[in-house]
Amino acid sequence: MKHKIYVVGLGPGEANMMTAQAAKVLEESDVIAGYQGYLKLLGDQFAEKELISTMMRQEVDRCRMAYEKAMEGKNVSLVCSGDAGIYGMASLMYELSPEYPDCELEIIPGITAASSGAALLGAPINHDFCVISLSDLLTPWEQIRRRLTAAVEGDFAIVLYNPASRKRPDYLKRACEILLEKAEPSRACGYVENIGREGTKTEVCSLIELREKPVNMFTTVFIGNSQSVILNGKLVTKRGYRI
Ligand code: SAH
Repeated sequence: MKHKIYVVGLGPGEANMMTAQAAKVLEESDVIAGYQGYLKLLGDQFAEKELISTMMRQEVDRCRMAYEKAMEGKNVSLVCSGDAGIYGMASLMYELSPEYPDCELEIIPGITAASSGAALLGAPINHDFCVISLSDLLTPWEQIRRRLTAAVEGDFAIVLYNPASRKRPDYLKRACEILLEKAEPSRACGYVENIGREGTKTEVCSLIELREKPVNMFTTVFIGNSQSVILNGKLVTKRGYRI
């Protein structure tokens, strides 16, 4: 029998936003591996497990450690925030899998920040939408720019992940400037900080206002399509029903 490794999406943070399936596989695991910030999210609940934490940006090492532990015969879960297959570790684990033919992967989905953030803001992605990461660590900025332009030209609602970091404090501003080439300044937008964690903050604003907002790496940003509106403080992308 092959050694099973679960690649688990934890959801945004709060324990009650983790799926029952994710909680079950974690419960059954001997080893839980992940970025230390995410292991902290788990709290004391899994304190008796062998926890392997690594730093941010050591993703390849983290994945290899999960495989090595599985090869020792342990039940292993590799955890990611949100969904494991949305800017998570699922694809890297598959890329490494030919090196570990005795192991088998199972991906356990989680609630991604686009869903949990949308729920807090209203209904901003209730029609066709695009998800774009502003991180240029692994993707050249020119490609990010092309995707932003294509998304706004296609009139998609847009969700931005990784809108800023300490090294990239002005990336949201740069993105807004690209979007403003095709979208009106009054375009309905919003953002959510610390979804499902302490210090949750939501805000709705126009695209031109969004350009000046200081956001951090724990923020998910929403840009409406041309039909989106702010209704009673909620960001709503209509489906087109006649009422
Ligand atoms: N796999 C994760 C995304 C990881 S990329 C998921 O599916 O949600 C990291 C980015 O996700 C952050 O920069 C932020 O834009 C978003 N994000 C993840 N968790 C968040 C949270 N709790 N609150 C706000 N944004 C979050």
